[in-house]
Amino acid sequence: MMLARHHHRLLAARSLAALSRPNRLHMSYFHQWEKLPGEGREPRKGVERVLGAIRAERFSAAHPVSGAVEDSFDAVVVGGGIVGLATAREFLKRYPDKTVAVLEKEGEVAPHQTGHNSGVIHAGLYYTPGTRMAYTCVHGAELMYKYCDEHDLPAERCGKLIVATNESEHPQVEKLYKQGTANGVQGLEIVSGEKVREMEPNIHAYSALHSPNTGITNYWLVAQRMAQEIRESGRGDIKLSYEASEFTKTKDNRVRIRGVEPRQKGPNVDVVAGHVITCGGFYSDYLAKRAGGNPHKDRVTTFRGTYYQLKTEYRSAVKRNIYPVPSGGGIPVGVHLSPTVDVRRGHEMIVGPGACITFSREGYEFFDFKLADVLDNFSNPALYAFVLKNMGLSFGELYRDLNKKAFIKQAQRYIPDLTLDMVEPSYAGVMSQVFEPGGIAAGDYILERKCMDGLVLNLRNAPSPAATASLAIAEMVCDTAAEDFGWPKSQKNQ
Ligand SMILES: Cc1cc2nc3c(=O)[nH]c(=O)nc-3n(C[C@H](O)[C@H](O)[C@H](O)COP(=O)(O)OP(=O)(O)OC[C@H]3O[C@@H](n4cnc5c(N)ncnc54)[C@H](O)[C@@H]3O)c2cc1C
Repeated sequence: MMLARHHHRLLAARSLAALSRPNRLHMSYFHQWEKLPGEGREPRKGVERVLGAIRAERFSAAHPVSGAVEDSFDAVVVGGGIVGLATAREFLKRYPDKTVAVLEKEGEVAPHQTGHNSGVIHAGLYYTPGTRMAYTCVHGAELMYKYCDEHDLPAERCGKLIVATNESEHPQVEKLYKQGTANGVQGLEIVSGEKVREMEPNIHAYSALHSPNTGITNYWLVAQRMAQEIRESGRGDIKLSYEASEFTKTKDNRVRIRGVEPRQKGPNVDVVAGHVITCGGFYSDYLAKRAGGNPHKDRVTTFRGTYYQLKTEYRSAVKRNIYPVPSGGGIPVGVHLSPTVDVRRGHEMIVGPGACITFSREGYEFFDFKLADVLDNFSNPALYAFVLKNMGLSFGELYRDLNKKAFIKQAQRYIPDLTLDMVEPSYAGVMSQVFEPGGIAAGDYILERKCMDGLVLNLRNAPSPAATASLAIAEMVCDTAAEDFGWPKSQKNQ
């Protein structure tokens, strides 16, 4: 009896499959199994532990006979950096009945900017009062300290000195003091050169701004924990090696996102979302273009930030973050010294980063070259304007990226006894920056709203301090999404 029913189901499955693929295969020539090994089994606890409940369920589910593999979620966040992950986490927190998936192109979360930065929890000094950047940095820094505390992750309020090396730089210290105070940064103090020497005997300064609440953490680790929280919720999925390559609107007013493993031709896997938020870091413009955004506006330029680090025996030459006053151009905050609490790279004192324009979006090394990215740069008038305005800075950075002596010279201005043999090479990160017409670095986050007939929200500019601010950016993005997508706000903070 059982066998007859099984046989009947098998025949039905075969004829359905034949119907759905007319003239392509003579199915009867093939020996077909109803299920492939593992299909339709009970979800395995081991898979759940590694990949989360949703994955364990789907991994065991039978492949639909129609041939379409399709996962469906209330919301999909594209980009598994700290901003995308924080956004998905905030969404789950606000909407206890809804599901979310994060799509990440690479084989792990946080592989790009989030995994390769200075690790500084910025206090909020550099940003124009009243901007979203200023608000989210100050608020986000407190949220970040709290998050690290609650999840027992390393975070140290080690403080920071922004040093003027001579009298002519002192007005910058005063400007930052006023700006920081207007932004609500606590504990700021202008200190004399003598006081700096007491605090940091190896630092030469005319004066400095002391920010005791600036700190350090490991954003890569924070992002891993956020991903874990999303998986553990049972309502969230993280899809890795999933490059969102095509967005189409379905008949029932949802978005189908076609994904493929990067640098591979297939298989294509589809995810269907009620709504989509893209947080693509230095691919945010490419991604927005695919997701119904404006292809001509808010284009990204990438800069490589190379680091050196003090050799082990010199690591404790300074105790806290030491920054120069900003050098202008809107891009670098300057080559600084920062202690790290990095699970992969350890407790080091890094020196950097530079800000050298790259010839590939993933230009971690000087000679990394991708024709499509270079052509994109060449066709970006805002970038020409930036380079023309900042000729010395742009070519200087190219030179310093290749020349250790010139690179370290920048730090020697405030740590004069630093010699070349005291430092060794360290990692590099690639930073994303949108330039506005006229070549001015966009000084705030850019949200492109109501794309694809109101189904998509694109976050298009999230440069530093977006790691510090990620938890606050997530609140801002979810507030905007609620407005645009008609989501209720009432379930917030449940
Ligand atoms: C050298 C350097 C130093 C910095 N220092 C600091 C600092 O000290 N403090 C601070 O707060 N900030 C710092 N920043 C800035 C901070 O790291 C970034 O602003 C932040 O990490 C941005 O996070 P994100 O999620 O937007 O981007 P990312 O971390 O770059 O994540 C975006 C993700 O989207 C994925 N993606 C892109 N396209 C697709 C697609 N089509 N399909 C699927 N996935 C896709 C990418 O693979 C990537 O993982 C620094 C940045 C750099 C580079």
